[in-house]
Amino acid sequence: MANHPFTYQPLPVRVVFGPGRRQQLAAEAQRLGLKRVLVLSTPGQANTAEHLAALLGGLAAGTFSGATMHTPTDVTEQALRVVHDLNADGVVAIGGGSATGLSKAIARRTGLPQIILPTTYAGSEMTPVLGETSGGRKTVIRDQAVLPKTVIYDVELTLTLPPAVSASSGMNALAHAAEALYAHNGNPLVSVLAEEAIRALGQSLPRIRHSPQDLEARSQALSGAWLAGSVLGSVDMALHHKLAHVLGGTFILPHAELHAALLPHTLAYNAQAAPEAMNRIARALGRPDEGGPDPTGRNAPQLVAELNRRLGIESALKNLGLPEAGLDEATTLALQNPYANPTPWNARPCANCFSGPGAGRRPGNPRRLLETPHDSGADHAIPVARTTEGAAHSFPGSTARRPDWGFPESSV
Ligand code: NAD
Repeated sequence: MANHPFTYQPLPVRVVFGPGRRQQLAAEAQRLGLKRVLVLSTPGQANTAEHLAALLGGLAAGTFSGATMHTPTDVTEQALRVVHDLNADGVVAIGGGSATGLSKAIARRTGLPQIILPTTYAGSEMTPVLGETSGGRKTVIRDQAVLPKTVIYDVELTLTLPPAVSASSGMNALAHAAEALYAHNGNPLVSVLAEEAIRALGQSLPRIRHSPQDLEARSQALSGAWLAGSVLGSVDMALHHKLAHVLGGTFILPHAELHAALLPHTLAYNAQAAPEAMNRIARALGRPDEGGPDPTGRNAPQLVAELNRRLGIESALKNLGLPEAGLDEATTLALQNPYANPTPWNARPCANCFSGPGAGRRPGNPRRLLETPHDSGADHAIPVARTTEGAAHSFPGSTARRPDWGFPESSV
């Protein structure tokens, strides 16, 4: 990575981080010159939206709590009518990627400034990326116009996030960081941030699973989510995110859970072509009580699968609602505009990624994916990255050898 040329433009987002920092919301709104702010949330966080409106006092114009997953354009239209009726001059979003997505969709259409208070680990608040769904199709755009002006990370707002949602949301963040490590437009700073994000999430998520009120672990996870969101916003994602977008948008699958279930597969597919990334992932996730960090990176996909298992995350896509008959449709869609990816990408890897966890057959048998490196059978284990000369970092047009990742065609 150190020898790769790169261009890097830090994103202009003001970050306010710390317990109780939501108390600063009115001051931050004033700083932006706002006088009539609309507070956005999902229905489940309507009370928190009212709480923020109270904190805004005379600066609050009202609330809209209809945000939902995957930012459907019809919901955006409803919210825009409210923006218009209230003559709002800015929006505040409280919640996860759903509330943030609505806020960004409004900003894109109106130019209104945004303040985001994230309460999950999705990381959308740090990105100029907006995914919207219409007619069963998800489109993703990258546009600086959707970037919030200010993000307030108040860890106290995350304490109510249920442990299971915290776990999958954290793995969603980890997926951003993992793909940033092999992004075609990555750079040394992004790699350092991404590795630290994975370390922070890997350490904190198991603690949160067992002690959801652990403020220190929650802070560490939120900090990891901030870093992961930052790298997500700075570089292009690859195979993993493309598959997640297509599957999530087409079949309306739960976003974070989908990311978590797919990640061991997509990492395994890219492992051989991205050895430096795998080294960093393994180093970040290596657990001292099991022999310490793995500097070879060979265990990265297994370590991610093992983390999923420790967090109790569902690993079979069919159990998340993916109909098996939908695999072909999703494969076709995913291939229409392939992302840059370390390993050359064709119909076969897509089908493997889908059919593994979706069908629960041998290659992607979720139980196998959850095995630790110590007890997995050699014939079924997730393939490992081999740090060989022939496995150099490779990007669009790459001629890297297709990795022997052990997912036979018969599984497709
Ligand atoms: P979400 O925002 O839908 O939240 C999941 C559920 O948790 C919701 O019901 C919400 O009300 C509830 N919730 C959130 N915070 C809570 C809290 N602190 N306490 C109790 N309940 C809480 O889910 P998400 O995973 O954060 O976001 C998913 C969406 O974000 C998807 O639409 C995805 O496409 C998008 N996303 C976009 C980007 C980007 O850069 N554009 C990045 C990541 C995710």
